[in-house]
Amino acid sequence: MKRAIYPGSFDPVTYGHLDVIRRAASVFDELIVSILNNKEKKPLFSLEERVKILERATADLPNVKVDSFSGLLIDYAASQDIHVAIRGLRAITDFEYELQIAQTNRVLSKEDLDTMFFTTSLEYSYLSSSSVKEIASFGGDISKCVPDFVADMVYDKFGIVRDTASSGRITNE
Ligand code: ADP
Repeated sequence: MKRAIYPGSFDPVTYGHLDVIRRAASVFDELIVSILNNKEKKPLFSLEERVKILERATADLPNVKVDSFSGLLIDYAASQDIHVAIRGLRAITDFEYELQIAQTNRVLSKEDLDTMFFTTSLEYSYLSSSSVKEIASFGGDISKCVPDFVADMVYDKFGIVRDTASSGRITNE
């Protein structure tokens, strides 16, 4: 059985991530989307919240599982007996960073963990979790960036309510 891990912060998951998840899930028998529990970063959503969000957002994909890990990806991958990591590439700026991580993982794992890249679908190439958070924090429209239930949760974190009475206008509470 061909299995792969898609690691990331997913804070929160965007349509860009979901596009990569969908495409990777069609190539592998099983895809584990695994959230890195990075103690250095201060995420908007807790690990538990991100697991729940990803489970709901991928509920229609039966061969996708959601998990989390801390520490090195190579150790987590070995513990799951998985030898392929998935990453997404948006632009040349992603490439340098991703290339370095992929090569480091290959050396550190003694060639046991390879990385497979999916280039972003053009309509999502501008999307990042950080821009989603920034736009939402100012009451901007993130409906084209994340699923509706995720948008509600993001606005909630910033104390912003969607004014459905005036066609989705967003106001500060
Ligand atoms: P990390 O903090 O590890 O970069 P992210 O959750 O930001 O985690 O991203 C996880 C992976 O998804 C990375 O490989 C990133 O390049 C990729 N990715 C993020 N946004 C997009 C997008 N819009 N299209 C394609 N890939 C993306």
